[in-house]
Amino acid sequence: MTHTHAALAPNAVIGIVGGGQLGRMSAVAASRLGYKTHILTQDAHGPAAQVCSAITLGAYDDPAALDAFAKAVDVVTFEFENISADALDRLSRHCPVRPSGNILRISQDRLAEKTFLAEAGVPLAPWHAVTDHASLHAAADRLGFPLILKTTRNGYDGKGQRRVQSAAELDEAFAALAPHPLVAEGMVDFACELSVMVARGTDGTTRCFDTVLNHHWHGILDLTLAPAPVPESVAAEAGRLAALIAERFDLVGIMGVEMFLVRDGSLMVNEVAPRPHNSGHWTMDACAQDQFDMHIRAVAGLPLPHATRHSDAVMKNLVGPEDMALWPAILANPGHIPHLYGKKEAREGRKMGHVNILFPYGALPGDWGIQAALGPLATKCASPPTCGRRLNTPTA
Ligand code: AMP
Repeated sequence: MTHTHAALAPNAVIGIVGGGQLGRMSAVAASRLGYKTHILTQDAHGPAAQVCSAITLGAYDDPAALDAFAKAVDVVTFEFENISADALDRLSRHCPVRPSGNILRISQDRLAEKTFLAEAGVPLAPWHAVTDHASLHAAADRLGFPLILKTTRNGYDGKGQRRVQSAAELDEAFAALAPHPLVAEGMVDFACELSVMVARGTDGTTRCFDTVLNHHWHGILDLTLAPAPVPESVAAEAGRLAALIAERFDLVGIMGVEMFLVRDGSLMVNEVAPRPHNSGHWTMDACAQDQFDMHIRAVAGLPLPHATRHSDAVMKNLVGPEDMALWPAILANPGHIPHLYGKKEAREGRKMGHVNILFPYGALPGDWGIQAALGPLATKCASPPTCGRRLNTPTA
């Protein structure tokens, strides 16, 4: 059960575990609401440390650092998922932790997550736990080929997974992925990937931002289209699933829910992330209050605003040196709203920032219009993200 807690007063201190861009943008949102932020990080000069009031420099599993951090703040949240749930439980001896360690415990383990979501009645891709060779071959018998083998922990941006085309590749893929256990999933022939940012307050109020379409490039989010160009019934069902998941988790904070839209129009949830999410960055310019405002309000026990979109938007991630080379062109384009994260070095595959491009409400253009608006940033989008219009579902 969620209990109503007193709201944090202005000037209270919000502790954020993790020093990356999600922490940075959360800290900026907190400052708009008159809060201070204190970051637990291992990088004194990282994206979040540059904009917060104080930092505790220490390892995420160092009891002394955890205790010192928790004693200095009024509430704790986290911006990444590689802290242990036990460490969050330790922090919760001193102050509220939102979202709870228990949500993290489930969401950072794919098997626990799938079991939890299946019990909640959430549709998932067919899956099978793989602990040894016997369960590996049982999974292949049940799911057929191709299938995907994934590590249960620490997978992100497509890392920690292998696609297996045939029985001949099974054992090698199993040996190559560590640590075990793994989870095997049937390959979903999806039309496109959707996501929903859902927030839930201490009073149980739940708010969903609009369902969006995500286009990846080499396993990393490249473009988000808001709203997703899918039938209204599909977008609404995605929101319903996200709200159901937030309630079942007794979430306080914000959560990204990633889904596949299957070609028959049905949805399957892929995974959840109980924190602000890259696919919610479009809200920073297309909504009166964005995912970070919503997150901080939930964590601080404040009432949640409506998640209202006032414009349509495309979010383009700036990844690695290739995209950063376009920075002068981005700045010269008055339609590009730039966000940079303050990272020193633009390494290959590293998320450096993003650009939002706005369109009047209801006027998100088709592929070629999006390509034109992206200008030089469109170079990576060789195959346009059109899937919404290729669906065999009614468009009414
Ligand atoms: P994940 O690490 O689970 O988010 O997977 C990364 C990406 O791999 C997803 O965004 C999908 O593009 C793809 N993928 C993951 N699982 C499946 C699946 N069961 N079927 C088809 N594609 C998948």
